[in-house]
Amino acid sequence: MEVKNTISRRSALTGMGAVLAAAAFNPILANGFENAETQSANGSEDPTTKYPRPPFKEQSQPWPGLVSKMDPRPDHGEKSYKGSGRLKGRRALITGGDSGMGRAAAIAYAREGADVAINYYPTEEEDAREVIQLIKAEGRKAVAIPGDLRNESFCVSLVEQAAKALGGLDIIVNNAARQQTHASILDISTEEFDWTMKTNIYAPFWIIKAALPYLKSGSSIIGTSSVQAYAPTEDLYDYAQTKAATTNYIKSLAKQLGPKGIRVNGVAPGPIWTPLQVSGGATMEKLKEFGSQTPMGRPGQPVELASIYVQLAANDASYATGQIYGASGGEGNP
Ligand code: NAD
Ligand code: MG
Repeated sequence: MEVKNTISRRSALTGMGAVLAAAAFNPILANGFENAETQSANGSEDPTTKYPRPPFKEQSQPWPGLVSKMDPRPDHGEKSYKGSGRLKGRRALITGGDSGMGRAAAIAYAREGADVAINYYPTEEEDAREVIQLIKAEGRKAVAIPGDLRNESFCVSLVEQAAKALGGLDIIVNNAARQQTHASILDISTEEFDWTMKTNIYAPFWIIKAALPYLKSGSSIIGTSSVQAYAPTEDLYDYAQTKAATTNYIKSLAKQLGPKGIRVNGVAPGPIWTPLQVSGGATMEKLKEFGSQTPMGRPGQPVELASIYVQLAANDASYATGQIYGASGGEGNP
């Protein structure tokens, strides 16, 4: 491990002053990666040294994984994301809002002035509670709606509950997904294949149908796609095709809903340090060197995509629809 380019959680915490020492006592604020060496006098940051680089420790968790058990703990913007009122008064529903990209979007949306409902799998209550606490700290409404997205009637009730609690809906982020690595197509059972399809393709379909009656012009639908949609790896046969489908529905739905003034866009992350990767999403071999193949030489952190989710929902992006915005460290997109 190259010391200069590596910011361990321990060194990040020990090297910070009184404010950050206080943050260290609060587990949800304790993932500060501030590294003075990456910042120049004018505030620009070196993206290659800003966050941890491989090699990473061997680690695995039962699906769906928890943020608190990852080492290093991912950065979702808990301390770093600063809002500027870009989504003031908006009402957002985010699936998979407990961790990873969904959590980064939830924190950013709240700091931009939106009320936020998050959905997550019931075993992720611990992660979800932290997000709810962070949204509330911004003085915004925070609604926790656990449940299994593979179930159509739950998806419909998720939308109903979110709309009721928030007094309507303007932003839908279909972000939750199932990703499990399998060396061979022969290792994927019908049940496993169905699990991936239900989570990644059916749930957004059910959620969007249920949400449309609430969405007025100016509303925004955002799907999380992946570099896997364009450059699938051999071990993600089922997952990668769902991401191609996600990219595709974004483009067709954007055409369908454009005349109504509802925009539909997607985000295509590259390798990002999230629970999905340590709970069956990647082989241990890949995990240890995660992100090393990118020109940045490291994985992205969820917070590095937060501003994209904000931008796609904000009024200033009024001419952007049917677009996929990538953040992949320099490799993988078309
Ligand atoms: P994550 O594990 O933090 O988030 C995925 C979330 O999906 C979980 O937190 C869970 O709440 C939710 N989920 C999965 N199955 C569910 C179910 N049946 N019911 C309810 N919730 C369920 O990981 P992440 O990487 O932030 O994933 C978010 C999105 O980013 C996914 O769409 C994923 O495909 C995409 N993505 C991730 C990467 C990466 O490298 N991490 C790369 C490209 C795309
Ligand atoms: Mg999670």
